[in-house]
Amino acid sequence: MKVNQDKCIGCGICVPYCPAFAISMVNGKAYIDEEMCFECGNCGRPRVVRCPTSAFEESEGVAVIPRKIRKFFSDPTISDAVTKVPGRGTEESKTNDVTGKVSHGEFGIGIEMGRPCHGTTLHQVEQMTRALAELNIEFEDCNPVYHLMEDPSKGTFPDEIKDERMVSCIIEFSAKEEKLEAVMDVIKRVANDLDTVFSLDLIYRFDDEGNIPIIQKLNDMGILVRKNAKVNLGMGRPMVKD
Ligand code: SF4
Ligand code: SF4
Repeated sequence: MKVNQDKCIGCGICVPYCPAFAISMVNGKAYIDEEMCFECGNCGRPRVVRCPTSAFEESEGVAVIPRKIRKFFSDPTISDAVTKVPGRGTEESKTNDVTGKVSHGEFGIGIEMGRPCHGTTLHQVEQMTRALAELNIEFEDCNPVYHLMEDPSKGTFPDEIKDERMVSCIIEFSAKEEKLEAVMDVIKRVANDLDTVFSLDLIYRFDDEGNIPIIQKLNDMGILVRKNAKVNLGMGRPMVKD
């Protein structure tokens, strides 16, 4: 996004609305640091920022890759064919009762990299995916991040897109339960080197007695679990049975 300097009257209304802290006042006019900008579109939405002169305009490069990647992962109104999958992650990835992607004896992982006010880059995402790929992890191929990878078996991305900043994207995969400790060790190790934040989702099935035994295993590794439940009623699809 950019500010039309001829239109801006320097009121400063827009500055606090930017989740990337990319807007500042320079010589009495709003200025966008294009490197910092996520291309989330917030500042250009009249219902969000009441710019009195409608001074915000799309930057030229946002219609094409690599800059288009910023918009795709930051602007919730955009659904594009760049990654072949709309949204930040796989549709219904956290609702295994509907998708049945994670079987008994397996666990699913979602690593939600970046958040508003902090963001992430694919360079940081690659730090995590490269390390996980060394465990022979197979990344979820219905996920938009997967479609940006240069080599999913190595968890690598093309150099020309690695520095693009975005609000958030999700790394997803499932693995056999015996890999749990190794996966958690990698995530904890890489977390120390990352210059961003992430949320870690773990998807697992109840056992026949209604217990979630993986929680004790995680506690034994020093990982405390916050149990969130998501129940989707009326999705119009049969429940997965096995
Ligand atoms: S598009 Fe989003 S990140 Fe970029 S300047 Fe506007 S509000 Fe900030
Ligand atoms: S809200 Fe519009 S006019 Fe006011 S500083 Fe921002 S860009 Fe300029």
